[in-house]
Amino acid sequence: MERDGEWSEPAPRRDQRAVRQADEIEVAEEHGAAAWPAMTTGLSKFVFVMLAIGWYLIRYKYARRSNRTPVLRSARGPRETALLAISLTGLGVIPLFYIATAIPHFAAYAPWPLQGWLGLLFAAFSLLMFQLTHRALGRNWSVSLDVREGHLLVTDGVYRRVRHPMYSAFWLWALAQALLLPNWVAGFSGIIGFGILFFGRVAREERLMLETFGAPYREYMSRTCRVIPMIF
Ligand code: SAH
Repeated sequence: MERDGEWSEPAPRRDQRAVRQADEIEVAEEHGAAAWPAMTTGLSKFVFVMLAIGWYLIRYKYARRSNRTPVLRSARGPRETALLAISLTGLGVIPLFYIATAIPHFAAYAPWPLQGWLGLLFAAFSLLMFQLTHRALGRNWSVSLDVREGHLLVTDGVYRRVRHPMYSAFWLWALAQALLLPNWVAGFSGIIGFGILFFGRVAREERLMLETFGAPYREYMSRTCRVIPMIF
């Protein structure tokens, strides 16, 4: 706890330099003998890259199948395209650019010792959720808002208690990113980027599902939450 306070105080000049160089520093040394050895920034960046690659591989496998199924109706448009671009920038472009270049340097900070390990946990849980949701949605999946030929309403498995578990997986990604990347900009761009997509899209997606499935979707909505079981 004492250690937390250390970084919230205005740091003397020498320490500020150290904060800027946090990417290169063995964080374990910064924090002395922590009960749990801190994850190095190099390793936590590697975990983030693995998360991105893992997500891509899962998605690639299932997208090939669903993209072969014709689209009957769609709520796509410039607005959806813009939301997707914003989300991709926050969850992918900004963090990967930071991993490659350490830019923006001014936003670097020294992470809290357990931060990287917690990030690893969130990243693993996120990938598990991507695998389960893609498998459950199967040919009904789309990158945007589409209704496909023979579209089935999925309401069991990971869809039993929440109606947007794939978005739960993206929230977990965004939280993992904030924990894994000790940079205020690159760490938090995921929460902002995906947050804009989520809040800009979810009500429209539910409207499309209501128009398509009617009463069964209304009933499904009444007994489920959006992303966190029993909470939200
Ligand atoms: N919002 C869902 C799905 C994201 S993929 C989730 O987070 O898990 C987006 C596509 O999934 C949309 O084209 C929509 O038509 C479809 N979709 C959303 N909920 C669905 C459901 N319960 N069953 C079948 N398809 C669904």
